[in-house]
Amino acid sequence: MQYDYDIIIVGANIVGATLACALADSGLKLLVIDAYKPDFEWANNTNDDTYDLRVSALTSASSNLFEKLGIWPKLIKQRPSPFRALHVWNEDANNKLNFDSADIGDACLGHIVENRRVQHALHQALAYRRSVELKLGVSLETLNINKYSATITTNDNKSITAKLVIGADGTRSKVRELANIHSTGWAYQQQAIVAIVNTEQPHQQCGWQRFLSTGPLAFLPLDDGRSSIVWSAKDDYANELMAMDNAAFDLEITNAFQDELGKVTLNSERAAFPLKAQHATDYVAPRIALIGDAAHSIHPLAGQGVNLGLLDAACLSEIIKTAIDNRRDIGREHTLKKYQRTRKAGNLAMLAATDGLNKLFSNNSELLNGLRNSGFSAINSLPHITPLFMRLAAGK
Ligand SMILES: Cc1cc2nc3c(=O)[nH]c(=O)nc-3n(C[C@H](O)[C@H](O)[C@H](O)COP(=O)(O)OP(=O)(O)OC[C@H]3O[C@@H](n4cnc5c(N)ncnc54)[C@H](O)[C@@H]3O)c2cc1C
Repeated sequence: MQYDYDIIIVGANIVGATLACALADSGLKLLVIDAYKPDFEWANNTNDDTYDLRVSALTSASSNLFEKLGIWPKLIKQRPSPFRALHVWNEDANNKLNFDSADIGDACLGHIVENRRVQHALHQALAYRRSVELKLGVSLETLNINKYSATITTNDNKSITAKLVIGADGTRSKVRELANIHSTGWAYQQQAIVAIVNTEQPHQQCGWQRFLSTGPLAFLPLDDGRSSIVWSAKDDYANELMAMDNAAFDLEITNAFQDELGKVTLNSERAAFPLKAQHATDYVAPRIALIGDAAHSIHPLAGQGVNLGLLDAACLSEIIKTAIDNRRDIGREHTLKKYQRTRKAGNLAMLAATDGLNKLFSNNSELLNGLRNSGFSAINSLPHITPLFMRLAAGK
């Protein structure tokens, strides 16, 4: 049987592009397509001091993966901001949870990186790989599976066959839909508002998160002293926050953050993202695998979504390489099932943990008030729990 490619990866954002990098040396012929053509014009301007509104808190497990793929030396020049501690507190409680990297013997808990810079570094790395063809502005339209191959058609009227099609195409995955893989999920009726802000007090290379009854508000430290905020707020309140003028927003966020970092002032546009939890019932089917948000999307309060997707990419690439070494068909469901077995339970556990935290804290229920406060006190008073939480947060 003749194939155009061994593998087609649909989606070239952080997760899909990382998988392509991880497979670039496997001897396989890869096609990576993405419907969106990012504008990397900023990369030509050495004086560019604008920050991407979308940033990610990368765990050390993720930066280790990038190190292994040769991406980290490029990213380290792209002003990532290490964060050495996390301070988390609750609307009602006086207790604060403090997670310090020194408690687990590490220099930092992770790095805040701009999404566009990570994607750019990955695309640059792919441009040098002869085994990988990256086509941007090309979207998946149809998918046909038979016993020996998968055939896709694209918006540029091409029909392309491969042994395996991998969906790295995000929450509304077309690969998942066309492969008839079900997913379950629910909308949080919250939106995450992101922006760049100045704070009167220095962020001290710490992440800060306050759980409000309207949703969690996080400040993530940036390299130049500013902070990136992720304010997950219930829909009505989020709409109000988006409609406020800058002065009113500054006052609202300063108060919401209890003056923890002094007066807060907006330094960018605001953008809002509706939030939902979603999980695919299966990550694999014959000649299909799903990774990243195509398989699972979770509440951003723990900053884990992309980190989970990167672990998916690392796991699936290893399983594919082992299959090649053992001369097995990389598209066989039996081969791919190992990926599902390895990743599904952990992803689901993280989805449940973030969902539970959001439900516990994002409400005014008097009934849950005691639980909220005692939960914080309990975590704070158990000597072994804090390092455990941090190891989980660092992806260890
Ligand atoms: C406000 C906010 C803050 C977050 N902060 C963090 C954080 O700090 N740390 C963290 O780990 N995670 C964080 N996350 C989660 C993280 O952003 C996602 O988990 C991650 O972006 C998912 O990456 P992905 O590559 O799987 O999917 P996506 O980023 O959604 O990429 C999917 C790609 O597929 C392409 N595509 C879609 N359909 C098609 C098609 N038919 N044909 C071709 N291409 C297609 C799209 O154009 C896109 O480029 C946050 C999320 C939000 C909303």
